[in-house]
Amino acid sequence: MHALVTEPAAPFSTHRFDNRFARLPPAFYRRVQPTPLADPYLLGISDDAAALLDLDPATCRSEKFLDLLAGNWLPPGAEPLAMLYAGHQFGTFVPQLGDGRAILLGEIVNQKGERWTLQLKGAGLTPFSRTADGRAVLRSTVREYLCSEAMHALGIPTTRALGIAGSDEPVYRETPETAAVLMRLAPSHVRFGSFEVFYARRQPECIKLLADHVIEAHYPQHAGNPDAYEKFLIDVIEGTARLIAHWQAVGFCHGVMNTDKMSIIGLTIDYGPFGFMEAFNPGHICNHSDDQGRYSYENQPYIGLWNCARLAQALTPLIDAEKCNAALARYEGAYLTAYATHLRAKLGLRESLDGDDALASDLLAMLAEHGTDYTIFFRTLSTFEPDASNAALRDMMVNREAFNAWAERYAARLQAESSNAVERRVRMNCVNPKYVLRNYLAQAFIEKINKNKCLQESDPLLAVLRRPFDEQPEFEVYAAPPPDWAKSISVSCSS
Ligand code: AMP
Ligand code: MG
Repeated sequence: MHALVTEPAAPFSTHRFDNRFARLPPAFYRRVQPTPLADPYLLGISDDAAALLDLDPATCRSEKFLDLLAGNWLPPGAEPLAMLYAGHQFGTFVPQLGDGRAILLGEIVNQKGERWTLQLKGAGLTPFSRTADGRAVLRSTVREYLCSEAMHALGIPTTRALGIAGSDEPVYRETPETAAVLMRLAPSHVRFGSFEVFYARRQPECIKLLADHVIEAHYPQHAGNPDAYEKFLIDVIEGTARLIAHWQAVGFCHGVMNTDKMSIIGLTIDYGPFGFMEAFNPGHICNHSDDQGRYSYENQPYIGLWNCARLAQALTPLIDAEKCNAALARYEGAYLTAYATHLRAKLGLRESLDGDDALASDLLAMLAEHGTDYTIFFRTLSTFEPDASNAALRDMMVNREAFNAWAERYAARLQAESSNAVERRVRMNCVNPKYVLRNYLAQAFIEKINKNKCLQESDPLLAVLRRPFDEQPEFEVYAAPPPDWAKSISVSCSS
């Protein structure tokens, strides 16, 4: 629990709200007030995220700010609402979802003119809550906080986490837990499902209004262009392809790639049963509720395309079907180009030569065969020396001959571009993270937070996640593979 400071100026008292989404007609949302959280305490604040809103650390630790996080007080200019959307959940269309526990507060313009929409997650019932309680548990808010800040530090587009209010208010999942509210930030919280809902309802005028809003706000380069909708769709498709290529490159598994969890601006959103690949296994399923493995690691790129097809279908009232198909046809190229670029960088290759794809895929097959830790292997690969035994790498494989054979090809490939070991190492360490949010680290962290009710930015886990590419010898233990007890951790949708 953080001590609060007394701060005369209320948060956002000098900020400008310009709530563009709230200016859409009421068909797109329901106005709703957050439900105050009982006896809230300040669990954590990301000063990095706060800086995006020109908020100083003192303001974020004031009583008023806690009131805001807990849903007890809203700054003048906020227009709270729950967004309407539908979505394909595990392949099945659900005609109405909507924010059942998230409340959009409004859109802030910062001093640089950048815009951020603020959303409280776990802020109480909305007209879309159905039979659920409108709350989120501390465990899931802390996981989202950690992972979204970690993804940002990895250079992957994501929502950001500003802060968490906790409470002893009980929330019942598989077992009783306690409630927390997360404030998250994004330029837009619009999802593919925000379009699908109006396609299913045969309301093309709403599809047009929403597309116009998103284009004006997030793809302004296309506004007024006669092909604006088509160009917008192409950008979304290619942005999604690039996002997923980046996930694959760091071994991130989202866990629930339903179309209501696909951002219209290509962000990683809605962190649930996500995980970072440890022992490399293309078929890895991080969500134990995903019986069929629909959202396994190797399926993510295909699901990304499938989801884009659902979006394109929802846009057919604005774009003719042939053009939608042409736009979808660009996904594969965008994905493969982005993924190959990541892999080349991970291997420390500057040029693109014939045989690179095979060199990379043979390596991945070897990692899969041995269940080698994905993050540790690529990080260690920067120490590779063409004429040495490379014992640190070789010892990660049982089949040493196979490694030696691959190492010989890799050495020859490095030679082909006259690669310099020192310079290569620096480049590789900027793309192969040393630290990722391993499930066992998240779990141990949550147990600690559950006890001391205080998420410190100075905590070593946050420190390493905020600088994932930097060697931090004092925190070496956070780069370790999972201990045996942690191999059985399973993460479900319950949040
Ligand atoms: P998810 O379970 O995250 O896939 O969400 C599916 C739908 O259920 C969305 O409309 C969510 O807003 C809603 N939802 C999930 N959890 C809750 C909850 N605890 N209270 C109210 N609505 C929820
Ligand atoms: Mg959700």
